[in-house]
Amino acid sequence: MLQRYVDQIKEADMVLIGIGRELSAKNLIPMDSDEVRNYYKEKDMKGYEQLLAAEEGPERDWMLEVYYRNYLLTMEKAPYFDELCKALEGKNYFVITSNQDNLLYKTDLKEDRVVAPCGTGEFFQCEKPCEHRIYPALPGIRDLIDYYEKTGEYEHLQCPKCGRNFVFNIRTNETVSSYLEEGYLQMWGKYTKWLQGTINKKVLILELGEGFEVPSLFKWPFEKIVFYNKKSHLIRVHEHLYQIGEELRGKAETAAVNSKDFLTMKEEN
Ligand SMILES: [Zn+2]
Repeated sequence: MLQRYVDQIKEADMVLIGIGRELSAKNLIPMDSDEVRNYYKEKDMKGYEQLLAAEEGPERDWMLEVYYRNYLLTMEKAPYFDELCKALEGKNYFVITSNQDNLLYKTDLKEDRVVAPCGTGEFFQCEKPCEHRIYPALPGIRDLIDYYEKTGEYEHLQCPKCGRNFVFNIRTNETVSSYLEEGYLQMWGKYTKWLQGTINKKVLILELGEGFEVPSLFKWPFEKIVFYNKKSHLIRVHEHLYQIGEELRGKAETAAVNSKDFLTMKEEN
């Protein structure tokens, strides 16, 4: 039986956490979930329901994304992370995520200990892009939603420099070559510096819900740390992709459960 991860966090000098798709906004708070739908219903805004019912297509999907991102950016607090945050209080930790949402910034985690290299949805960028510049998304999101509520028409915002459409500054399979990294580079610097400090420290590594979407981001680097740092220990949690290689035997353990359930499991006894 897996020793409670909370106890393992307590005993560690440093705690490194990787958060993957099982804990993404789209999995925890799906687009068609009551949370999002009721948010708009209570505001008497009809657009979101219209969009959910509308036929899929690039334009409709864009507008639905705009509404959904608006919800994520303005929500008070992300669900599911409370116990983890509590366990990390006072600890020397860092969290990295491969998700493209701002969920972790809506928890009690410290902002300067979370890095989201695939973007958060907080910024727009030119779709080309014609320059290395990102723009806060929320004001534009509000304009787009107001316009759709009034007219029922899909709209875009344009890059002030070249006139091409704005897109969300997130890294997806489609945007790999156009994604601007300006939004996270400063935090990335902090993260890599923090990692250097883990050498010879008792590090607990908790990998939550990461499949093989971006394994080079932290999945493989985590394995490397565990392989070389004799005092480190890895817990890999995933409903299906929980396996660990032979070379990490005795240094890693796995939990074959969905990370959402893992985070909210109650103590048995
Ligand atoms: Zn442009």
